[in-house]
Amino acid sequence: MIKKKGEIQRRRIIVYYVLAIVLPCLILGILAFRGIKNDQALVEREQRRDLLEAGQQIIEETDTYLSSIENSLADLIDTATIPQEIIFNNSLLSRFSAQYQAVAGIFFISGGGVPSLLNNGLLYIPDHLLTVSHGAVSRSRHFTWERGWQFEFRKKDYQKALEYYQGILPNVTGAQSRGEILNAIARIQKKLKLDDEALETYDLIWNDYPHVFIQNKIPLGAVALVEKSLLHMERKDTIPALKTIHLLISQMQIPVWELGYSHYANFLSNIEEIIFRCERSTEEETICWLQRIWSSKDSLSLSEKHTEYLLAFLGNSDVILDDIEPGGGRNNCRRYKTSINGRSYLFSILAGNEYEQWGLIMDPGHLLNDTIRPLILNIAEQSNFCWEVTGLNGELLLKSAFIPEDTPPVYVMFPANLPSWTLTIYPGDSGLFVSLFRRGEGLFFYIFVAILIILAAGLFFTLQTVNHELHLSRMKSYFMSTVSHEFKSPLTSIRQMAEMLVRGRVPSPERQQKYYTTILQQSERLSHLIDNILDFSKMEEGQKTFRFERAKITAVVKDMVESFQKLTADEGFQISLDISEPLPDMVFDREAMEQVIHNLIDNACKYSDESRTIDVHLYPKGSRIVISVRDHGIGIRKEDQDKIFSRFYRAGEELSQTVKGSGIGLTIVKQIVEAHHGEVTVESSPGKGSIFNVILPGSQK
Ligand code: ADP
Repeated sequence: MIKKKGEIQRRRIIVYYVLAIVLPCLILGILAFRGIKNDQALVEREQRRDLLEAGQQIIEETDTYLSSIENSLADLIDTATIPQEIIFNNSLLSRFSAQYQAVAGIFFISGGGVPSLLNNGLLYIPDHLLTVSHGAVSRSRHFTWERGWQFEFRKKDYQKALEYYQGILPNVTGAQSRGEILNAIARIQKKLKLDDEALETYDLIWNDYPHVFIQNKIPLGAVALVEKSLLHMERKDTIPALKTIHLLISQMQIPVWELGYSHYANFLSNIEEIIFRCERSTEEETICWLQRIWSSKDSLSLSEKHTEYLLAFLGNSDVILDDIEPGGGRNNCRRYKTSINGRSYLFSILAGNEYEQWGLIMDPGHLLNDTIRPLILNIAEQSNFCWEVTGLNGELLLKSAFIPEDTPPVYVMFPANLPSWTLTIYPGDSGLFVSLFRRGEGLFFYIFVAILIILAAGLFFTLQTVNHELHLSRMKSYFMSTVSHEFKSPLTSIRQMAEMLVRGRVPSPERQQKYYTTILQQSERLSHLIDNILDFSKMEEGQKTFRFERAKITAVVKDMVESFQKLTADEGFQISLDISEPLPDMVFDREAMEQVIHNLIDNACKYSDESRTIDVHLYPKGSRIVISVRDHGIGIRKEDQDKIFSRFYRAGEELSQTVKGSGIGLTIVKQIVEAHHGEVTVESSPGKGSIFNVILPGSQK
């Protein structure tokens, strides 16, 4: 019945717990989740706006940079209106190109509408753009040298040809003619196998007439260097040949000549042939020179690409002209994008007039690496983001060292007047708050798990408490029923005997005496029981007071043992008392101590089973006094020995059925002993009996 009631109560508490704690917790959790999600969305929106602003800033600064280049070119043109031919080698323009790395070239569109490139960074120019006037041989000159030609090419009389040219040389003035004659002399010396002389002549040409052009604008300096290196190779003088080649490459690279493409290609094939002939050499110095030549050739190839790039642009002048809309003031500048052979070009046309228009070719690669990259890095550091730049077809051009995988980026497209790039910006790790919530559901999952764990722990402890309380209430009910029984039996016998005595149904005086004694004993028992209950309730409420006095405990123990001896004599108990003197005095509450000794001897009698011997021993132990009560009864199991001092606890279910008791006797013993600063111990083994020791402090005089 009690159990069933307890179960219902437990279920009710769980329902309350779920309704009052779990449900509100879950609802709050869901609301918090939604709130945090909203917060997160707000943070993300703000972050996206910041990133877009940063992207716009990058675009604006790129635009400003390009505008600054365009403006400086406009200023330059204003200050130096120089004819196109001069501008080609103009140091102002060279410096301009050097200052702005992103500038691949400058071009000029004359009134005729054909753009020409004004840039001295070209390795070569297409043959058809070469101006032949430099190399044109005048009629009179041609006539004068015809005899030399006759000797050399018709009669093949090299000696005479050589003498002829050497003869006219002192009378010839002008670098062009002298250069041409010296070239003829060196050529014939080579044919006559006068190698030393030929080398000397080429040295002379290289030193004095390197910028003289022969025939179709072939620079004499380059011819001299090529011929010199070939001569050295024939004489197997590898090192001088390679040195000459190195010099030639470096001259081509500067470049000092306006080379046509076929001449450039011709010189290059000569260079490659000499390199090929030396390549198998194992000589250290040769290898060393070869390495220097190779590295110069590498940079020459780079310049070649640059040249191709510019020439492709120039070669498609119709594309440019189609795009260009003439007009506008000086400060108006238009930018155009075009793609030639898969390469993208960005060019600006400075507004001019119908006779002249100037333009700039930007190298997008340079612009990207040397301008945009540092710009983005700088802004990315301030705004903390990761980024990448992609081309028109989504090809990756540049990116930051780290790109997060699971963060949605912001895309910023470059406007029409800039290269067709897209800047993709990923939010960087912006502090604990954002990074925590970026993990998203994962975090909330952990929060929910934590809430569930807390709720489970709460449920566990609530159940523990409920169980404990239920156990106590069960014990209390049990206590009430056993106590009622305890009261009932002495009261019944007192009543019966008193009735018989009152009605005069007990005639013999001995029998009457026996009845009186029994009534006395039972009422004493009742009074002890009541004392126990009163003491217990006082102790529970913390209101028990003691009247301590200094005395010998011996008398109290003796009285109690004697009283029990008399009481239990009929039941056949033999209670022995052994007192070991001397015993110190004690400060104690007499009534409380009587209660302790009574409870212990009473228990010893109750749980003696068949045995009838109880030994009480009073002895000193150091400065302390031990009251020991020993029985030979049922004993106590090990696991119960600690519990028997708890309130209402009765060891063994079957025992409680047979032996009457309330489960508070030992609780009172323990509390009284502890109030006397002592302790109670128990030694017991089931079936053999138990010894209860009350150890109390003695009092020094
Ligand atoms: P009770 O009124 O049940 O005797 P107590 O508090 O005095 O209550 O004792 C608690 C329990 O300890 C008893 O129910 C009994 O199981 C056990 N106990 C106490 N004294 C003895 C003893 N001398 N021998 C065996 N068991 C004992």
